[in-house]
Amino acid sequence: MTSIFTKIIKGEIPCYKIAETEDFLAFLDINPNAKGHTLCIPKKEVDKLFDLDEETYNGLMSFSRQVALGLEKAVSCNRIGVSVIGLEVPHAHVHLIPLQSMEDVRFIKKEKMPPEEFQELAEAIRSHLEI
Ligand code: 5GP
Repeated sequence: MTSIFTKIIKGEIPCYKIAETEDFLAFLDINPNAKGHTLCIPKKEVDKLFDLDEETYNGLMSFSRQVALGLEKAVSCNRIGVSVIGLEVPHAHVHLIPLQSMEDVRFIKKEKMPPEEFQELAEAIRSHLEI
């Protein structure tokens, strides 16, 4: 079955896009732990991160690093945290989470934002990227 992230890649579901290459896509998480919480995904649909072929895995990590460097400039935080979970969406993805404290990696405390704020945040992050 097509994953919700493949539907985002195909443009069938909207997203607040951060960056896109031929093989990867980054967009804001719709239910963020913190402002700027971003998901980086391979366009190739594979459920588990470590089942990706080595080239795609390394490419995703390199892409995530580039997104994280821009994210850190755009959003005030102590550092960018990285999580890989995948219990909700069976399409490999890297969570990049701007951290103030350990609370931000617990996937319990959620940030509510209006659509305009998601839009502004996405634009701010994009302006700091070199992808
Ligand atoms: P995980 O699979 O790593 O447990 O969590 C999946 C993540 O994807 C969650 O943080 C959730 O908020 C996010 N997510 C689920 N559906 C959508 C969606 O349709 N759009 C966006 N932007 N994020 C989503």
